[in-house]
Amino acid sequence: MKVELQNLTKIFPSRNKKSNEEVIAVNDFTLTIPDGKLVGLLGPSGCGKSTTLYMISGLQKSTSGKIFFGEEDVTNVSPENRGVGLVFQNYALYPHMTVKQNILFPLQNLTGKDKLPKNEMLQRAYEVAKLVQIDDLMERKPNELSGGQQQRVAIARALVKMPRILLLDEPLSNLDARLRLQTREEIRRIQKETGITTIFVTHDQEEAMSISDMIIVMKLGIVQQVGKPQDIYDDPTNLFVAKFLGTPPINVFDGKVQGGKLYIGEDAVLDVNIEDRDVFVGIRPEGFVPNDKGELNCKLNNVEVMGRDVSIVSTNAASINPVIRSIVSSDCVKKLADGQETISYSLVPHKTFIFDKETEERIYF
Ligand code: ATP
Repeated sequence: MKVELQNLTKIFPSRNKKSNEEVIAVNDFTLTIPDGKLVGLLGPSGCGKSTTLYMISGLQKSTSGKIFFGEEDVTNVSPENRGVGLVFQNYALYPHMTVKQNILFPLQNLTGKDKLPKNEMLQRAYEVAKLVQIDDLMERKPNELSGGQQQRVAIARALVKMPRILLLDEPLSNLDARLRLQTREEIRRIQKETGITTIFVTHDQEEAMSISDMIIVMKLGIVQQVGKPQDIYDDPTNLFVAKFLGTPPINVFDGKVQGGKLYIGEDAVLDVNIEDRDVFVGIRPEGFVPNDKGELNCKLNNVEVMGRDVSIVSTNAASINPVIRSIVSSDCVKKLADGQETISYSLVPHKTFIFDKETEERIYF
């Protein structure tokens, strides 16, 4: 099912009668989410991700704007009648019920024409339990399950009503690192198998990039960029987005353009077709190529072995980050001399981005 948001806005009124400081949690959000896609809604704490998700679910009413599921305007439809499945960070399972009873619960609450015969309810509960691979745990209580298993039960419970849209609010936050990795792949598999349009809120860029067909990056209630994860990584629209995506993060420098050359400190690092001005320069870790005749001169700190690749840690007076982290193949490091104190890099132009110093918007060269 396609989801369309038109100028969606949520303003929370001021709590303090003396001030008029209302919070614009979501500001004029317009977007079409294609049918059957897994979309990652990404941004730092407080940027409006959850509020967006709750407006789509109907749990929170928008201040203005419209929401369509397919061709149907659901803006004023109650949450129960929207056909959404919602999964929260804290699982929210009923502790006194077994896994089976937890999954059956949403079906038992159906009334009127939606009410199902008992055997059909059971059949559906077992089908979704099988899909999320907990069908052998049906008689256990939540406190007899691991965090990952509990989250699967929560997903099964959201799926059992065959929702039109699946909404996941930070579903992996309570899991340890290994389980997070496993469960995010599970979510991808389940989404692919069911083909349900899924919106997944996270503040973890790696999580969003790894499983989403499309990501939405938000900041202070405003959508910054929408696209395929790799496209946004390769072509960020502003410094915020460039900094938010990527591990290790992008390296940012104070720079300037003078006479058609981009300078970092005293080093002319690239030829650019931009008028003279002060800029920020962002360079992805894979954008540095160690080269004796390289244009960017840095002080070499140390080399961190990461397996196939290595990370060279260096410093430069113009760097905004405390250290520069470049990622190079281990062969490059073999060429470094023992006790070498400086290192020079050539830059890969398409891994180097220039941003306006004031607006932090991208300037293409
Ligand atoms: P997090 O990752 O921390 O959950 P988020 O991106 O999901 O953050 P929201 O929970 O959507 O952010 O909040 C967006 C903004 O709206 C924040 O500034 C928050 O303080 C504010 N906000 C959220 N709910 C309310 C409310 N009920 N009343 C007033 N302000 C609210």
